[in-house]
Amino acid sequence: MTDTTTTDLAAPDAGLPGGWQMVIGLEVHCELSTATKLFCGCPNQFGSEPNTNVCPVCLGLPGSLPVANDAAVTYAMRLGRALHCEVKPSVFARKNYFYPDQPKDYQISQFDQPTNIEGWLELPDGIRIGIERAHIEEDTGKTSHVGGGGRIHEAGYSLVDYNRAGVPLVEIVGKADLRTPEQARQYVAELRSIILAIEVSDAKMEEGSMRVDANVSVRKADEPYGTRCEIKNLNSLRSLVRALDYEARRQIELLEDGERVIQQTRHWDEADGRTHTLRSKEEADDYRYFAEPDLVPLDPSAETLAAIDASIPTLPADRRQALATAAGVTPVEAAMAVERGLDDLALAAIEAGANPARVMTHVEHNLAADEAVRLDAANFAGLVTMETSGELTATQAKQVLAEMVETGGEPGAIAAARGFEAMETGALESLVDEAIAADPEAWAKFCAGDAKVTGAFVGYVMKATKGQADGKAVTELLRRRAAG
Ligand SMILES: [Zn+2]
Repeated sequence: MTDTTTTDLAAPDAGLPGGWQMVIGLEVHCELSTATKLFCGCPNQFGSEPNTNVCPVCLGLPGSLPVANDAAVTYAMRLGRALHCEVKPSVFARKNYFYPDQPKDYQISQFDQPTNIEGWLELPDGIRIGIERAHIEEDTGKTSHVGGGGRIHEAGYSLVDYNRAGVPLVEIVGKADLRTPEQARQYVAELRSIILAIEVSDAKMEEGSMRVDANVSVRKADEPYGTRCEIKNLNSLRSLVRALDYEARRQIELLEDGERVIQQTRHWDEADGRTHTLRSKEEADDYRYFAEPDLVPLDPSAETLAAIDASIPTLPADRRQALATAAGVTPVEAAMAVERGLDDLALAAIEAGANPARVMTHVEHNLAADEAVRLDAANFAGLVTMETSGELTATQAKQVLAEMVETGGEPGAIAAARGFEAMETGALESLVDEAIAADPEAWAKFCAGDAKVTGAFVGYVMKATKGQADGKAVTELLRRRAAG
């Protein structure tokens, strides 16, 4: 079993040339799946007709006042606690900037007193990635640039849809602890499984309910951080990995040519596989934040926080650990079963006495996630036991399992109906003797230690039994015969 508390970040290799190392920090925006928006009663719904889920508050009309959505605040705190953050008394703040998709001229966000601070998330291999903060803010509307390939520069005109304006978001700001694109991918995947497990968002990257911005810089090992660039709006795990790899190599090339990296916001173009300059960012943005005067601070009571903690189910990292312990594998090896939601079934089958290794093989290779919900754990354990006791071959077990999933039947009955009777050891022995007698030349080779001829004998027995024999049992009998 691996040690799950290591924090060695120097180990992973990003495959960069010349001793360069990547330093990555991710900012992930996650839309909360509340029924209504963050500060008004408009439906929080994706895909409605443009500008139908709007009201004076989310349109920023004069005189309208925001009221914080209790469910959104609770969801944000639940996410914070699931990320091992401290939930602090917090205040909303106005972030002042003009953009057409933001009708108030400011975004209600949080600044120096965010709701969640100082947490961490654990990757399957046990490495913990720090979370600096996870704050609450409202989403902006959506601008579409019409013509010119959808970019603002060449567009004929632009359209704006305010349905998304005021949708509740949590921005999860990760520490610059990631060192490879693969780690970044694992981090986002893990964050997504946590968000899904605690049911605060549907976390659909393709619909924009989970959006990733990546800060990346390069340095030689143990040198101070280099100048970073931010890549905006990565909307799939594949884009994230490709964009990070491209951007790191671009920066290395600059530095090796004696140039410098300019701090910039860049855009990832999936089609040409490159990042492009969006805007230079050499000076810090001045958003003139100040506390939002129309909203009261958030200060959850100890009882509220206890109730939030109690609402958090067992998280993926703990589920991996539980399955790893039961099955005698590493958490990394248990990750696939957990990812596919089959860990409860595997645990129940192992608990019922089934062989852990066979259980893991079936769960990883022979079961679809949506099939397993129809599978009774006791029957599944029964099947595995029939297999490990030699009553069924591996091939037969797979067939019986497929039928169990289909019909919900019991493994013994299915095996009998299919004529998968266990071969009597005596019958198998005489077939092995027949096989040996049929090919004395191969037998001599086998006895001399040539394992390559094994297949000929197994093939003979399989043919004679129409595939019903257990190949492993045949091999075992051959070895015993050869040993004398
Ligand atoms: Zn509204």
